[in-house]
Amino acid sequence: MAAKLLVSLKVLVIQLNPQIGQVDQTIKRTWSILEKVTKSATYVKPDIILFPEFSLTGYNFHSRKDILPYVARESEGPSFQLARSISKKFQCYTVIGYPENADEQKLYNSTLVMSPRGEQVFNYRKTFLYDTEVNWNCDENPEGFQTFPMSFSKCAKLPNEDSFTRDVTLKTSIGICMDLSPYKFKAPFNHFEFSSFCVDNNVELILCPMAWLNSTSITDKQTLHNDSMLEAAKDKIALNLREQGLPLAGSQGLYQLKIGDSQHTHRVSSDDSSSEYKHMDEPDMSNVNYWILRFFPFLSYKSRAIWFRNSSLLENILGKSKMPPDHEYYKNGRHKEDTMDFSNSKEIMEDTLAEKTFLGASLKQSWKFEGKNAVLVVANRCGVEDGSTIFAGSSGIYKFNGSQPKNSEIDEDSRLDSLNESVELLGNLGKGLEGAILREVQFEVSR
Ligand code: GLN
Repeated sequence: MAAKLLVSLKVLVIQLNPQIGQVDQTIKRTWSILEKVTKSATYVKPDIILFPEFSLTGYNFHSRKDILPYVARESEGPSFQLARSISKKFQCYTVIGYPENADEQKLYNSTLVMSPRGEQVFNYRKTFLYDTEVNWNCDENPEGFQTFPMSFSKCAKLPNEDSFTRDVTLKTSIGICMDLSPYKFKAPFNHFEFSSFCVDNNVELILCPMAWLNSTSITDKQTLHNDSMLEAAKDKIALNLREQGLPLAGSQGLYQLKIGDSQHTHRVSSDDSSSEYKHMDEPDMSNVNYWILRFFPFLSYKSRAIWFRNSSLLENILGKSKMPPDHEYYKNGRHKEDTMDFSNSKEIMEDTLAEKTFLGASLKQSWKFEGKNAVLVVANRCGVEDGSTIFAGSSGIYKFNGSQPKNSEIDEDSRLDSLNESVELLGNLGKGLEGAILREVQFEVSR
């Protein structure tokens, strides 16, 4: 029988409002946030520090020409340098999003992983791209979603041991913002591509650097292409920012710090959560609820067992690709499950199918994740770009506990938002302030 290991991970998330053309200023503010974090009375040394997508450069680049001054080769550039200094100083992993030029032609939206020794150990490229990336011809990650190992020393113990003196290697995945959404917003919502990938592959740590929008942003194509409509919409945003006492770029330099306290995020149903851009120090619960929903395969949901009582229905669905066939990944024919040749050996096919899930259900178990744990860390940027794009901040740390609610009727556990108790909301920053949140997360893995 597999042994249970109890893991204790100290996770620090940095929330920033980087504006295009202000790399140095953003680095300065990062160091002052870190300094304040370490001076906090409840500070403990983090094992991992997560930054947002395009943390230092700003996000809304309109053309290739605009972004070129900010791109960097893997293992070069300001994001790499900053991550290396931070990792060495704190002796922890640093994970940070940056625009990468892989060669003369190819640009990616990437995230680098720096080890506690200051060595780059992984580089993930965004797989599903958002509209903005199309403006500068960003390439899709040809590898698709990926897993990689992160090794933490003295972060684990057996249940009967007193202190965390064992090392542990966690199976990790990075999802950059749009990776959490349906491919091109066109794939069926219930395919949950990224979170299904994570459940299928038994991922234990999920890191999400993001530049996710607050829904009062101007994204409607008609408005964006009509000058007078666009001006009117921007005026409305400017007025709201003035009312909040904020400049057009949103708040910078006023830090919210939630360091090592145990304050959990208050659960609010998706029906009651508003997305208005007010109360900068409170999370955008409408987005928090949406992110939780996008992790449906990790959430308890009793009806799953009823839907898939007929296993041939599930077998039929699992035999087909869930992933978008027009993605680079499939064109190259690399994806072993989804390009599976059905004339292959029956055992290989059965083994592969057994690991796959649809809506969290596998052929072996009505909820594959049941009884397991996983940690989700979201680092989302805040602030406003172009007077039209408002980012949602609300960076947070979550634990999926893999538990079914006890003694509840089906109706009571059909919540697919923050009211679902199989997700623990360990804390979130507000929607509109820069700052940091540090939490110790304890969870189980089997080894
Ligand atoms: N789905 C995300 C949003 O709507 C995508 C943004 C991104 O990839 N940066 O905000």
